[in-house]
Amino acid sequence: MELQWDWSEIDLSEAAFPPDFLWGAATAAHQVEGGNDNNNWARWETQTDKKGKPRIHGGQRSGAACEHYSRFADDFRRMKADLGLKSYRFSLEWSRIEPEPGRFDEEAIAHYHEVIDALLALDIQPMVTLHHFTHPLWFEDMGSFEHRDNIDHFVRFARRCFEEYGHKVPRWCTHNECGPFSAMGWGFGVFPPGHKSLKRMAQVLCNLMHSHMRVYRELKAMPGGKDVEIGLVKNIFQFDPLHRWNPLHSMMCNVMEGVYNKAIIGFLKTGVFDLRIPFMVKIHEEIAPDEVRSDFVGLNYYSNLLIKVIMDAGDPQSLKIRDGQVRTDFGYATYPEGFYRALMQISEIGLPIYVTENGIPDDKDDRRADWIQRYGYAMWRAMQDGADVRGFYYWSLLDNFEWAEGYTMRFGLYAVNFETQERTLRQGALAIKELMDRPFPTPPA
Ligand code: BGC
Repeated sequence: MELQWDWSEIDLSEAAFPPDFLWGAATAAHQVEGGNDNNNWARWETQTDKKGKPRIHGGQRSGAACEHYSRFADDFRRMKADLGLKSYRFSLEWSRIEPEPGRFDEEAIAHYHEVIDALLALDIQPMVTLHHFTHPLWFEDMGSFEHRDNIDHFVRFARRCFEEYGHKVPRWCTHNECGPFSAMGWGFGVFPPGHKSLKRMAQVLCNLMHSHMRVYRELKAMPGGKDVEIGLVKNIFQFDPLHRWNPLHSMMCNVMEGVYNKAIIGFLKTGVFDLRIPFMVKIHEEIAPDEVRSDFVGLNYYSNLLIKVIMDAGDPQSLKIRDGQVRTDFGYATYPEGFYRALMQISEIGLPIYVTENGIPDDKDDRRADWIQRYGYAMWRAMQDGADVRGFYYWSLLDNFEWAEGYTMRFGLYAVNFETQERTLRQGALAIKELMDRPFPTPPA
């Protein structure tokens, strides 16, 4: 049910978090590193669609991005000194580490050792993502996750990374957001490889569950595997009917909820992957019913979507929001109640939760502090109601390359001037420090 709170009755200062709660910020390699020219996105950025329209907003390229590949140490010092963040989630760029099948690049491997060591030296806990939307071109060219046999390659990469970094990194995410990755790439054709087929999308999604399981089992069986936590990152967007009185809107929402949220949450809960799109797709696979499937679940949450039967394609500003809601630069609404709903829904899985992404695209920085306070409050309220949330990573540490939107969306705690690479702490970012530093009431003895 779509939830709406009366914010005039809410005392935001009630929200306080335990001292060991893990506050952090997140990025992904391709979005910040710069100089990635051997992966699926690098090629996609140079292409146009059938009508000649560039794949990326305004024909932009990721290019040098935030030069985080060379500036990481300064970025970490900054996030520690300004905000006191305790953890950092980032992804390993597979195309650097394994530029050709089976050939591992020692320099790239050494680089990520340096990254991890720089974090540890500052007492910032690393959280690693193995697959955050990018992979080497050779893997793309063999059909990536559309073919189940290809998972062997991902497993080989994951094993190598774990051999190298397993003893230094306490938490590992296998795949980032299987829903958006498969829907955008194979369903709507706006991410590489640019297909438009719900059938293929569903197959990719199912394969990603297999891939997660394969990596989970293999890493757990390696030396040190039992000492770390390995999880899957799930994005939740709720689909709520634009007009609650219209049964067609509700019907659409049910289908979308089933494909986008329930198929994955159901898999994590039961080990059975079940996805149905009426008259089009029916997949039912018992992937891992009798085993542990994850040590934690990562939740990425931004907003809900108000659904009608025919959606306006393309223009984010055409997204509908409810009266009184605040629009983000991406077009979707600020909807903290949805964060509460998502946390309660993901709790059904029965695993510890890390919020692996949450943040606002807000170039003017006039909504960020409010977003952090209200989403923080919603998270606290979910914890009061039983959600086992252990940490929160703000998306993102830096303004960065926002996939098909290019550099138009400014999510950063730090604004980045892409001409000079200068970083500036945004005022709104201080709200996260305020939440972190708020005294946590000790329960009466
Ligand atoms: C992705 C990020 C992305 C963010 C903001 C998530 O879907 O994991 O890579 O930048 O949302 O749109």
